[in-house]
Amino acid sequence: MKDIENTISRRDFLRAIARAAIGAGLGWRCYAADDSNPQATEFTFGVVADVQYGDCPSVGSRYYRASLKKLAECVREFNAKKVEFAIQLGDFIEQDFAAFDAVLPIWNRLDMPKYHVLGNHDLSGVQDQQKNAVVAKLGMKSRYYSFKVNGWRFVVLDGNDVSVLGVFPREGNPRYEEGLAMQKRVAKMNKPNTPDWNGGIGSEHIAWLKAELQKASGAGEKVILFSHFPVFPPNVHNLWNEDEVLRVIESNQCVVAYVNGHNHAGNYAERNGVHYLTLKGMCETDETAYAIVEVHGDHLNLVGYGREPGRILKLQ
Ligand SMILES: [Zn+2]
Repeated sequence: MKDIENTISRRDFLRAIARAAIGAGLGWRCYAADDSNPQATEFTFGVVADVQYGDCPSVGSRYYRASLKKLAECVREFNAKKVEFAIQLGDFIEQDFAAFDAVLPIWNRLDMPKYHVLGNHDLSGVQDQQKNAVVAKLGMKSRYYSFKVNGWRFVVLDGNDVSVLGVFPREGNPRYEEGLAMQKRVAKMNKPNTPDWNGGIGSEHIAWLKAELQKASGAGEKVILFSHFPVFPPNVHNLWNEDEVLRVIESNQCVVAYVNGHNHAGNYAERNGVHYLTLKGMCETDETAYAIVEVHGDHLNLVGYGREPGRILKLQ
């Protein structure tokens, strides 16, 4: 595990002094690392995690209602910057299926292709009989999928694939049974990430991921993985089978980054040439958090908005 200071060169780190700018509309700060000698930008994409809108009072630092205004500002900025695509990394809502009707019309103002990742709240926050309607409500073609942009492959995982809170029905459901068994294995290893509000990538989903990465490797594509749940560094929020996912990632040379939400504090580490980035949760505090990523041939330049710091992630 390396922190940002070790990951980028000392010279670049010293250059990476955040500069403040005025964000569109609401005056959020925008932080960009100083990217003074870049290869040309191939394309950009917008990314936001844990919008977690709910028509409910704030709890601690979580300002559920304020997310509507923050999301609207984020959508305006993605449109203004003409990003190639936008993706939200799950926990779009805090609770209540009806909350989707508040956030989706805002998200759907995006002018470019837009994608969803399933978070735990998107399923555990709705009634059992509504769980299986969430994928269609979000307009997702399936719970996990991939898409390509400019020769890059983006792979979207479903960390609720096997789960104790996110699946319905439970009795006799292989996705529930596999989740329960996986959660017990994590508990036996005395790891911290046992909570019910985590989940895992089931065996079929793992096989699909392996095939995706093999296809990408064969085609010479670089890959960025999107997930709601982190896999590295070790953390209470991680997928139950984070070790298995890491093995799959590291058995292919094509993955350059794994980007997720779920841990609202944010996080970053690098391992064997792969960047593991947890974005800060938009719903925390009265200040927003999201990012625009500029994709270059030799690095990713992450421009952070609000509480999200700017970063330069070098490709190996
Ligand atoms: Zn979550």
